[in-house]
This record gives sequence, structure tokens and C-alpha cells, in this order.
Amino acid sequence: MTRVPDAAAAPGGRATSAPLMGRDEEPTVFELSVPGRAACSFPSTGLPEWSAEELVPAEHLAEAPLALAEVSERDLVGHVTRLSHRQYSVDLGAYPLGSCTMKYNPKLCDESAALPGLRDVHPAAPAALTQGWLELLVSLEEWLCEVTGMHSATLQPPAGAAGELTGLLLMRAWHDDQLASGAATTPRTKVIIPDSAHGTNPASVTLGGYETVTVPSDDRGCVDVAALREALDDEVAGIMLTNPNTLGLFEEDIAEIAAAVHEVGGLLYYDGANLNAILGVVRPGDMGFDIVHMNLHKTFAVPHGGGGPGAGPVAVSERLARFLPGPRPVRTPTGAYDWETPADSIGRVHGWHGNALALARAYSYILANGGDGLRRVADLAVLNANWIRHRLRGTYDVPFDRPNMHECVLATTTLKKERGLTALDVAKRLLEEGFHAPTTYFPLIVPEALMIEPTETESLQTLEALCDALERIAAESGEEAHEAPRTAPVRRLDEARAARQVIPTYDARPAEQ
Ligand SMILES: *Cc1c(COP(=O)(O)O)cnc(C)c1O
Repeated sequence: MTRVPDAAAAPGGRATSAPLMGRDEEPTVFELSVPGRAACSFPSTGLPEWSAEELVPAEHLAEAPLALAEVSERDLVGHVTRLSHRQYSVDLGAYPLGSCTMKYNPKLCDESAALPGLRDVHPAAPAALTQGWLELLVSLEEWLCEVTGMHSATLQPPAGAAGELTGLLLMRAWHDDQLASGAATTPRTKVIIPDSAHGTNPASVTLGGYETVTVPSDDRGCVDVAALREALDDEVAGIMLTNPNTLGLFEEDIAEIAAAVHEVGGLLYYDGANLNAILGVVRPGDMGFDIVHMNLHKTFAVPHGGGGPGAGPVAVSERLARFLPGPRPVRTPTGAYDWETPADSIGRVHGWHGNALALARAYSYILANGGDGLRRVADLAVLNANWIRHRLRGTYDVPFDRPNMHECVLATTTLKKERGLTALDVAKRLLEEGFHAPTTYFPLIVPEALMIEPTETESLQTLEALCDALERIAAESGEEAHEAPRTAPVRRLDEARAARQVIPTYDARPAEQ
């Protein structure tokens, strides 16, 4: 089929004047719309044309045509390219957004996922025709199990939070089975979560049908083991532990925590979203964990931000394997690959086989790095984050000033007292310096927190430039930062209002403000 770019087609309508498309203003795609203009045109098929009314029963037809923008390919590409130039991205520069692991994604991974043999396969194609894909998925699962020290995994969950929910459903399936088989007598109703946990943890616990019990952190930033012991009883289904925790610290008493939770019959869930801190060094399976979720879109260099698509595989210990979602890719005794649903499967948690092309990216990332390369990822991620803490201590507060893992948490508590400089001010001022802001006001247990995750992909020169900028900001009077960002396409927004009053079309846009 020929596809003719229709650049100058359809005269008339309002021509967009050049000044609108400058840095300070960009029309919406609806404002660029000209009735009758299209991005492509097709040659006549020579067949009679039917109207919508002839093809679709009247009651199913929309009352009016959809109000879609009518633009040429040229205008559309110009529009999205101009918008993309206003955007900060991992391809543009350092993105020290703690907990999110916004590291550079090697283009090699995109290239391999785009190989026609992977990209063009329909997910419903039979196993006999997709042996290569199945081998990729089985190998990826095996590697993820090796890295985490677990028995088997599901690749279906499309995000970290989806992995958490899957893990909690597995936890529930295990406990239900214990009750049904008479191995347990009390129903489990509670899941323990430290107060430093990622916000998705308690949300997943609620969705999984459990009640959250929060345990505090001690003055070293780790789980308060005495408080944990007090919370443990035979109603506890398990604990969800993030390690390194959201303070960037390695939980020191894991062996003791694992023993105590197992003793009351609970399961141990490892939030391994930030596996980049421990790759090739320690394994959750060896620490006694029963369930681990990973964020391939953090540690294993799958692009993320802007809503995905990600991948949050869940790996489990042997006793939970029969509950995994299905169908799972498996290697059969003949050496051929096939799909199989485990005996007591909790069912599907995602359509088809998960976000397969994200899985292909992670596969090529692991293959390209090899075991020693993955270990180096962790070594450098941890080294970089410790370098930053050392360099900035004295300029910013370091609430827990001891060796951290892949990220470090600073605070502006003193600067706020002296000059009114808040974490938000620093983050906004840093945008003017050409960096993405760190995570702010998280973890919740640190006031005025700046959570910095440099990742292993940034050079020493970049880390120096970032710290130079943060030192400059701390040395200013504070006025500059209150005004910032002064050079970005938009200044400070009313973020709460922006989230609550979404205005999807230009028609509904309120008058200039
Ligand atoms: C990012 C993250 C999650 C959630 O992952 P999503 O893919 O965003 O759903 C959960 N836990 C921790 C510790 C994380 O850093």
C-alpha cells in the first residue's frame, strides 16, 4: 500500500504563525488542526465506498464524529519534536531521581528488541513457531532466578507494583492452601511493612486483601527489630521488606528478621525494585526470602517514566512455585519449549505473556553485561552514591551518615532554618543548572529529604558537575531558589491542581492565567 505524505494538502483553516511555535509557546495539536488535512492519503481501491451507516447499526454509531485533530505528518512531527526538545530525559543528561533508577538505557537493548524475529511475532502464534521467543523467556527467567537465588519466576507482571500484588496473591494462595490442608488453623490477616517502605507496598497489601501493620525504623535507619517482634503473631501473613531500604541503607538484621517471621509461619517478601545495589553480591533467596519482585525497568535498563511499559517479574522459593501465574514458558524434557500452567496457579495477572519487548531488552542487557558485568553495575552504583554523600556532607544534612548503597538521602533542614531553603527550592533551582531534580520529600520519615540516585552510568565528571551545582545552590542567599525555575518552559506549577483538574482538550482550557 502506498502511503503519500500529505504535507501541504487541504488549504484553508488557520495557518499557525511562527511565533506560536517558539520556545515560550506551543499550540496544542488541536490548534494546529485544519479541517480536511490528513497525515496520509490512500489511492482509490476502485471498490464501492460504504458509509458508516451502511456498515454499523445506527444504535452503535457515535452521535457526532470524534473531534480529532486533523494535521499533516509534517505539522505533527514538528509539534512533537518541539515538545520533545522541552523535555528532560535520560538520553539528555543525569537524572538523579532516587528510588527510580533513571539510568541510561543502552541502545543495544532497543536494537535487539527491535529485531524483526522478535518484534513481528504475534503473541498468539503457536509454540511450535515461536521456539526462539520461548527460549529467550525461559533463559531470562533462569537468569533472574540465579541473580535472586530463587527457584522459579513469572514474567507476566507489567510493573513493580503489579509484581507486588502478584506476590501478595501468591502469599495468600500459600496461606489458603495451608488452611485447606490442615497445616494451619488460623487465617492470616496482616502484612508487616516498615515505615520506610515505598508507597506502593501498603497499597498492594490492601489490594491483596490484607491489613497493613507498620513497624518503625530505629535510629540507624533500619527496621526496629524489637518493634517487629512485638507485631509478630499467628495472624501475620508475612513481611514486605525493601532492601536496600528507601534510606539507601542495607537492612542489617535480615537474618534475625527472616528467622522471626518464619517462626510465626509468615512469609518474607523482598521488594527488589532496586536490585541494582546488590547484583552479584548478595541474593534474597540466600537471605531466606520466599518472594522477590524485580523492576526490569530500573535495574535491567528498560526505558521507563511516562507510564511504561515496564516489567516486574516475581521470583519465588520452591514451595510457592506451584501457585505462579500461568501459562509459563518452560523447557520440556525433549528440549523443546512450550507453555504450561502450574498446578495451583493463581491464574493470569497480565494479558498474553507480559510486556514481552521489555523482557527482550532486559535479556539483551543481561547477556551484554554477563555475570561479572552485572556485579560491576552494583559496585559502581554503590560507589557513585557514596561519593556523592561524602562530597555533599557539610553542605547538606545527612540524616543517616553511614555507608549507603545505590542512593543517598540528604536534607535541607539546616539550610531551611538559616535561609528558608526547602528541598523543593533546591530541586527547582537544580533544573536551571541543567539537571533533573532528585526525589524530594521521600522517604517520608526524613523532613526536607533530597534522595539522590546517581546510578552507575554517570561519569565522575558528571557527578562533579552535579555536586558543584548543588554546592552553588546551597551557597546562594536563597532568593534565587525561591524564584526557580526561571529558565524552564514553565515556572512553578500548582501541582495539586494540575493533578485534580486535568484538562484534556484545548476547548476546555481556561482563559490565560
Ligand atoms: C519503583 C519502586 C516500586 C514500584 O515500581 P513501579 O514499576 O513504579 O510500579 C516499588 N518499590 C520500590 C522500592 C521502588 O523503588
